[in-house]
Amino acid sequence: MRKPVIAIDGYSSTGKSSISKIIAHQLGIVHLDTGALYRGITYFAIKNCISENGQINLENLFQRLDEITLQFKQVEDELIVLLNGTDISKEIRTNEVSQQVSLIARQKEVRDFLLEKQRKIAADGGVIMDGRDIGTIILPDADYKFFLTASIDERTKRRFLELQKLGMETDEETVRKNLIERDKIDSEREVAPLKKADDAIVIDNTNLTKKETIELILSHITGF
Ligand code: C5P
Repeated sequence: MRKPVIAIDGYSSTGKSSISKIIAHQLGIVHLDTGALYRGITYFAIKNCISENGQINLENLFQRLDEITLQFKQVEDELIVLLNGTDISKEIRTNEVSQQVSLIARQKEVRDFLLEKQRKIAADGGVIMDGRDIGTIILPDADYKFFLTASIDERTKRRFLELQKLGMETDEETVRKNLIERDKIDSEREVAPLKKADDAIVIDNTNLTKKETIELILSHITGF
């Protein structure tokens, strides 16, 4: 029997990835954290495409996109992200990457580069993909679409705790500013902006635990 294709979009730090990971496990399907792909490209750009003024040289990055291979590998309970074979799972969560990623993700060349790769992963069904444009652009025919949102205070708290757990030095104000800035760039960009698909189910999880959000999503997934 064909397994479901599930799209999870929404604002930064609404728990999309950690929730999708658990649902994938429960349903026996694949999880793709598409934010990690944009973060991986941003990390590559910071390492390889900086011009003399210290900024990312976008033209240089566009020319070198074909040098980038991003893979996911399951190691025990964690999904490891590999850039050309090297584990960059921790590096892509740094403030430096978070501060540049939305500027990279709004580039048409970058989105085009990732478009078919994402669709190919979903072609045989059995996938839950989380991001910003999954229900609208990448998988418009997904069997189920959800759009997650939560208050900025709650999202700041969650991201701050997540970064602390990873052992990264930061403060709540930096985290809050970054979330607001990314959501703004992501929502206002011309190509594939962050937007609720018309047929997506909205879940505001400000006052829901992770477990409750998962149960709510699963309650909609029937017939598989
Ligand atoms: O999901 P995460 O917060 O890791 O995503 C990092 C950034 O990647 C987002 O702020 C956004 O700029 C970009 N992104 C995107 N489209 C997706 C997933 C992520 O533009 N489908």
